Amino acid sequence: MKFNKITKNSILLLQQVVGEAYVFTDTENLNKYGQDETDFHLYLPETVVKPRTPEEIAAILTIANNELIPVTVRGAGTGLTGGALPVRGGILISMERFNKILDIDTRNLQATVEPGVINEVFQNAVKEVGLFYPPDPASKGSCFLGGNVAESSGGPKCVKYGTTKDYILNLEVVLPTGEIIYTGANTLKNSTGYNLTQLMVGSEGTLGVVTKIIVKLIPFPKHDLLMLVPFKSIEQSCEFVSEVFRAGFTPSGMEMMERDALIIASKFIDSLAIYMEDDIEAHLLIEVDGNDIDVLTKDMEAIAELASKYEVGELLFAESAAQKQELFKLRRKINEAVRATTISKEQDTVVPRAELPKLMKGVKALGVKYNFKSVCYGHAGDGNLHIRLIKGELTDEQWNGDYMKNVIAELFTLCKQLKGTISGEHGIGWVQKGYTPIVFSEKEIEIQKNIKKVFDPNGILNPDKMFV
Ligand SMILES: Cc1cc2nc3c(=O)[nH]c(=O)nc-3n(C[C@H](O)[C@H](O)[C@H](O)COP(=O)(O)OP(=O)(O)OC[C@H]3O[C@@H](n4cnc5c(N)ncnc54)[C@H](O)[C@@H]3O)c2cc1C
Repeated sequence: MKFNKITKNSILLLQQVVGEAYVFTDTENLNKYGQDETDFHLYLPETVVKPRTPEEIAAILTIANNELIPVTVRGAGTGLTGGALPVRGGILISMERFNKILDIDTRNLQATVEPGVINEVFQNAVKEVGLFYPPDPASKGSCFLGGNVAESSGGPKCVKYGTTKDYILNLEVVLPTGEIIYTGANTLKNSTGYNLTQLMVGSEGTLGVVTKIIVKLIPFPKHDLLMLVPFKSIEQSCEFVSEVFRAGFTPSGMEMMERDALIIASKFIDSLAIYMEDDIEAHLLIEVDGNDIDVLTKDMEAIAELASKYEVGELLFAESAAQKQELFKLRRKINEAVRATTISKEQDTVVPRAELPKLMKGVKALGVKYNFKSVCYGHAGDGNLHIRLIKGELTDEQWNGDYMKNVIAELFTLCKQLKGTISGEHGIGWVQKGYTPIVFSEKEIEIQKNIKKVFDPNGILNPDKMFV
């Protein structure tokens, strides 16, 4: 697709729409909005705009569509696959002024919220009225709900409660052609027409700009218990995951942390919370929650009993809210800690959970074959493991070239063979799009590209993302 550069005249038009104070062309802002949390990428937009209303966004998109200027929408910029990178320049729309919780409807257990609200701010607001919004990415302290919708983000709680897609009832969306639509209704059930809501969830800012989100809420569970199980074999830790579910338990958290992941995170936040024996290869952080503490205690004891059949170290039962928080903090900090201490690339692999041991075995075998280390962690209960490939002694040429691309392609081929796929929650965005032919047939890709054309005939919105 050939796009046009922004002219002085289009800048003037944008200023008329949002006000001069909210159009930026200075180097500092272009740099700030030219990168996200994906490793080492910088693509400068030509201008950054910060609208406040859906109507302003509609006007911006109309200008861009008429003048064939590419547009990229940005939430908090915590994405890990470069979805918010303005790879073709053009206009970057920052959603940071859409930061209001519009309504918490305690009668219907729903809320209407703007997409620039930070996930944790929203979670805390609904908790104050006894309600729970479970999707909780490790980045919850900074990522926006709009970004969560666009990526269908997950987190530790999602193993019991489902990911973002399971909480979105309806969305207000501005289309690339400037019309404002709702995708559904504010109901728990809806068999009326195609499911545009779920099409929009996970569409990575390529089909429209989400401007209002109507979410389902549930009552906040009264109690939770947390246990840390150290395993002497990483494969055994993965085997145990599916055994817990087959035995009839659904934990509200089932997170895996490989030895190195935990060592790096502990150093990073200066935590002595976990003492690790030399023979421990991985830990599972297991949480159960609900309203009856006796039931939870029995469930946790039964899960601990199941664990005793494996080669495990001493189990740690969290005794206070502060201890629970610190254990979860260690898990949440792994991504940041590993990135801060190594050159690495993260893969968001997901397989049916009973196939996790095969995935883990395959990853380590690939490491031996191609001479790289990996640090694995993540939402094991969902079969979703983040695999950080470490550059280590690989040359720059190997790391940036076909050598590493082949490693990733082999890893994703393994996911496909195990009936899994190449992203569980981070999306495809810019950096993973070359691998989609591993999991989609030509026809499947063609259908998706045709959907994009229906929403965005000129291809102006987040171009060059998701598909080659
Ligand atoms: C330390 C760390 C930990 C993380 N942990 C997790 C985790 O546990 N689980 C998880 O799922 N992810 C995790 N992530 C990834 C990231 O936080 C999520 O993908 C998050 O949902 C991105 O939100 P954001 O607001 O930062 O979006 P951005 O990065 O700004 O954008 C992401 C995508 O959403 C689109 N977008 C943003 N807002 C809108 C909108 N209003 N309308 C349409 N499209 C929009 C953008 O165009 C882009 O394609 C983590 C990231 C970091 C840095």
